[in-house]
Amino acid sequence: MKNELEKTEKFPSRIQKHIIPEHEGDVVYECISCGETFSIDQFLYTCPACSSLLRLNDRDFKLLKKIPGPVWHEIFDYRKMLNTEALKGVFLFKELLFPTVPLQDIIYLGEGHTPVVRSNRDLSRYIGMEFFVKNDGLNPSASFKDRGMATAVSFINFSIRTRGLKEVLGICASTGDTSAAAALYLSYLDRNIVKSVVLLPQGKVTPQQLSQPLGSGATVVEIPGVFDDCMRVVEELAERYQVCLLNSKNPVRIMGQKSYAYEIAQQLDYRTRDLVVVVPVGNAGNVTAVMEGFLDLYRLEIIPDLPFILAVQSRHANPVAVWRSTGQYSPMKVKPSVAQAAMIGDPVSFPKVRKLVDEHFNELFMTVEVEEQEIIEGMLRANSHGHVVCTQGGESIAGLRKAVLQGIVKKNQTVVVDSTSHQLKFSNFQDMYFKNAYPEEYEIKSREIYVNKPVQLEACSETIAGFLKLKEKQGA
Ligand SMILES: *Cc1c(COP(=O)(O)O)cnc(C)c1O
Ligand SMILES: [Zn+2]
Repeated sequence: MKNELEKTEKFPSRIQKHIIPEHEGDVVYECISCGETFSIDQFLYTCPACSSLLRLNDRDFKLLKKIPGPVWHEIFDYRKMLNTEALKGVFLFKELLFPTVPLQDIIYLGEGHTPVVRSNRDLSRYIGMEFFVKNDGLNPSASFKDRGMATAVSFINFSIRTRGLKEVLGICASTGDTSAAAALYLSYLDRNIVKSVVLLPQGKVTPQQLSQPLGSGATVVEIPGVFDDCMRVVEELAERYQVCLLNSKNPVRIMGQKSYAYEIAQQLDYRTRDLVVVVPVGNAGNVTAVMEGFLDLYRLEIIPDLPFILAVQSRHANPVAVWRSTGQYSPMKVKPSVAQAAMIGDPVSFPKVRKLVDEHFNELFMTVEVEEQEIIEGMLRANSHGHVVCTQGGESIAGLRKAVLQGIVKKNQTVVVDSTSHQLKFSNFQDMYFKNAYPEEYEIKSREIYVNKPVQLEACSETIAGFLKLKEKQGA
């Protein structure tokens, strides 16, 4: 800490008193329908008065407006130089994220500040323009879910200390990555107080995603059905038993996930004019958080404009895209999708999306629908040009390509594509493609140009050299 102080003495004087965040805020749960507010000295997920969704609202947010936008740039940029652990992750933006949780309670496992990687020439040509991938697969459990889990589990840690809780059962339903993140973050807390349970749809998460919560020591329950069935059971449990729900219905998760937007702004030096952010949509927590995050920045004049949001869905799970094109929302029955983590027919956060679009984003919110074939090939194409994106990243990329073709996204715009997890989590879908082994419902047929397989040769340099020459002649 002493070194830290010496370091901050060299920072511009106008930011010195802000460099370690002091704003505590007056954070309450607030119902998005009836507007009722509730104290955060309890775990709540829906409004006790009307059952709608809750958001967290800092009633002192206006105090942050006393600091001009350009000074905020300096605060966040200089803060990056500190080595205070609590501020190394998503809580770098603590004032906007969850100001009430003090530094001492923050759990940091290395989340956030994921890289933004430029598309190379070949990939840009394929898409029709240059773009960036912000790869959230480079988080500790290899998906963006770690952002929200960092705030949710820090809040649990804070609640245990301040409320003297003796027993907490953390529980979630998952398409795979929520459970991996929840189990990881909960396993860092005191085992005698905190237990974790995850519910997964049997056979509908990848082997890697199943191994993660098992490795973290969580109780893993597999049930028949799809994600929507798991969610229903978990909600019933949360209503009847004293548990802490870690799904994105829990508004504390959304708080952490807003950091994705803050980071994009910071990585672009806060120049958001003509920015397009491409997001795959499943339960719609991520796209909600991204919009809320940019809205915070806009209100504090940290950025000059709100960006365009391009929400991408597979035709096999497209309730939000249908709503956007027809004006009607109805839950749907999903079909199998390689973008399995987004295979959700009745997104929990849809009411938040609708409200944010109606009140703030309007025509800045666009949707595009893609085919399964386009999703998997979007992923394979990107990964053969230096990226490590998952199938949902492939979905974003396929969505961008379509939007460029349709003229929805224009070449002079700056595009950041969200790859929500790491390639390795979904390698089984790559395997199925290379083996042309997709069950019919996926509607995917392998095409030679994307297929790659290992070759078995003798341990002999001449044979190998001969083989490579042959391959060269074939122009492969
Ligand atoms: C959870 C998840 C999604 C979907 O995000 P939502 O917030 O549910 O819309 C997309 N991709 C990956 C890898 C995920 O884990
Ligand atoms: Zn209410």
